[in-house]
Amino acid sequence: MKEPLGFDVASQMNSMNVKTGKTYCAYCGAEYPLDDDAATLVSEHIKTCEKHPMRAVEARAAELQAALTAAINMNIEKNAEVARLTAELAAANEDAERLDKLVMDAVCRQTSEIDTNAGLDAHRAHRARVGGGNK
Ligand SMILES: [Zn+2]
Repeated sequence: MKEPLGFDVASQMNSMNVKTGKTYCAYCGAEYPLDDDAATLVSEHIKTCEKHPMRAVEARAAELQAALTAAINMNIEKNAEVARLTAELAAANEDAERLDKLVMDAVCRQTSEIDTNAGLDAHRAHRARVGGGNK
């Protein structure tokens, strides 16, 4: 096919290849004999060529994978910490409830020894606050 400038590009390139008898990697210049294995050899070379742009993409993907793995591991650690703190808080709340009940029971007993009606009122108020029967 004739190009506008008057020469056949495909034919020119063909003659260049015939002259050199080689093909090459456009990124590092590694040369391969221009024969039936050329396409396979160049394809294999591209997978490991250090100057091929794919290496930068692979390096970025490895960085992102490492960052993702670190984030997942941090999340697992934080979830374990949340579970541990939740259990500690529940235990502390139970202790506080038990202590409150002991203190209020003692207050009820003392008050009822002094004045039966005042003791009963205090006892009812205490039961309403901490739960339990109204006896
Ligand atoms: Zn190369």
